[in-house]
Amino acid sequence: MNPDRVWETPEEEWRALINRVRAGRPLRPKEWPGGARCAVALSFDADHETFEMGQGRAAIGRLAWGEFGRRVGVPRVLEVLHRHDVRASFFTPAVAALIDPAAMRPITDAGHEIGVHGWMHENTSRLDRATERELMLRACDALEQVTGQRPVGHRAAQWDLSPHTIELVAELGFAYDSSMMADDECYELMTNGTPTGVVEVPVEWVRDDAVYLMFNRDPATRPWTSPEAVFDIFRREFDAAFDEGGLFQLVMHPFVIGYRSRIWILDQLIAHAKARGSVWFATHAEVAAWVWQHRPDLP
Ligand SMILES: [Zn+2]
Repeated sequence: MNPDRVWETPEEEWRALINRVRAGRPLRPKEWPGGARCAVALSFDADHETFEMGQGRAAIGRLAWGEFGRRVGVPRVLEVLHRHDVRASFFTPAVAALIDPAAMRPITDAGHEIGVHGWMHENTSRLDRATERELMLRACDALEQVTGQRPVGHRAAQWDLSPHTIELVAELGFAYDSSMMADDECYELMTNGTPTGVVEVPVEWVRDDAVYLMFNRDPATRPWTSPEAVFDIFRREFDAAFDEGGLFQLVMHPFVIGYRSRIWILDQLIAHAKARGSVWFATHAEVAAWVWQHRPDLP
């Protein structure tokens, strides 16, 4: 496709581009475990220092900000999850785990899931197929070595996928991906018109704390949304999912949500969900397994 003359792209070419990765059959189960009204899948992208390093930088101050995520953010998040007896998924770049393997223990000991999130939070879309495959495997091996469990879920760093990412996720045997946005509910991923058997647990920037609350000096991004407004958006996303009997999936970052003025958002969101009725709190892996086993077209 010529970016200066996109209108000249032949139909065969634009169809092929669109079909590289596409939503396949919807995976919206008729019921959730225990007769729950809806499912809640909370996730934390534990990028820490690799948020900076993945962009090819190592500014001392910015690395300390990442370090806060591990030292302060994660314990605060774990305390809230423990108090509500809720399990969640932590997508962790391999290098972020290797920097301090002992810091992974409290997460896995509490029964939370660890998912693949790049080697060093590198931009996946810039990788050639062989490099991407090698890094995905290496990240899986490193996380397995650190945590004792083989990850079954994948989330592309920055949600920046290469044309090969989903094919590789299928080829390497992951049960699910969580980087795509074609629905609020789970669906099966298709690559080039072929069903992959991989479940997508979709994300969205609207359900991502960093979109509203991240501070960056360069490129200059400022948090313009108040914590109260962020809570209101997340709560409305949950309420509608509850009313529809669907899935509420949320992305947070320990170095974004883990501050004294913000951690209450997580606390009150869980309290609000529990107050509304029967809700199934589950890891992404549990949600993916359930929707696949209860896919609507099964007899
Ligand atoms: Zn990330």
